[in-house]
Amino acid sequence: MRKPIIAGNWKMYNSLEEAKLLVAGILEKVKDVKDVQIILCPSFTALAVVSEIVKNTGIELGAQNCHYQEKGAFTGEVSPKFLLDFGCKYVIIGHSERRQYFGEDDALINRKLKAVMGFGLFPIFCIGETLDQRNQKQTFDVLKGQVLKGLEGISLSDPLKMVLAYEPVWAIGTGVTATKEQAQEVHKYLRDLLSETWGRETADRVRIQYGGSVKPENIAELMEQPDIDGALVGGASLDPESFSRIIKFKG
Ligand code: PEP
Repeated sequence: MRKPIIAGNWKMYNSLEEAKLLVAGILEKVKDVKDVQIILCPSFTALAVVSEIVKNTGIELGAQNCHYQEKGAFTGEVSPKFLLDFGCKYVIIGHSERRQYFGEDDALINRKLKAVMGFGLFPIFCIGETLDQRNQKQTFDVLKGQVLKGLEGISLSDPLKMVLAYEPVWAIGTGVTATKEQAQEVHKYLRDLLSETWGRETADRVRIQYGGSVKPENIAELMEQPDIDGALVGGASLDPESFSRIIKFKG
């Protein structure tokens, strides 16, 4: 049994005061939830404050990005090692906004994945096809390339230490969600793909999140799919009411 895992990606939203209010609002609404793993990914500037507030609550902390080196002359970058100072456990790696706006390619993402795992952090490794690629029936090829290049040289000896997030680019922040059938078809493909390289037992234990306009209205049907183990939530994670309803998808 894979434990459901729901993560909120706050992107570049929330000043310190807004972050405090948001996390307090979420905590209040999900304090009784035990059977879902909850992760909050604020911006770097709010990590320290959010870390203090979620301490001993069961809610875990993630960052949205990091560099692949431990230290060095990389102005403006953040070392994966520094994230440990805040009690971060997770890091989003390869988000489509980083691929699209910051030129991150599979080789760079592979270096980042190796680095964060080397520091004992758990990556939320994002992959996804564009609308053009889907229309041209390239979805599976694109995803295969992203997964195999991203994870090249990584043993996945503990499958719980990486979360894969399928985020079709056309569904992120657009209000258009993949149908449950579209999402399940891809998640099953990804699990089978993982099993080809890392074995069935490992593939069956890796959690695969869906991301792309997840809302309280569509989370339940997505979570009913056999290969969907959770969600990476952007917009709807910025509102305590919406995010808590997503977390409480079982009703
Ligand atoms: C995301 O940022 O990872 C995301 C899925 O965003 P949204 O939920 O807003 O589509």
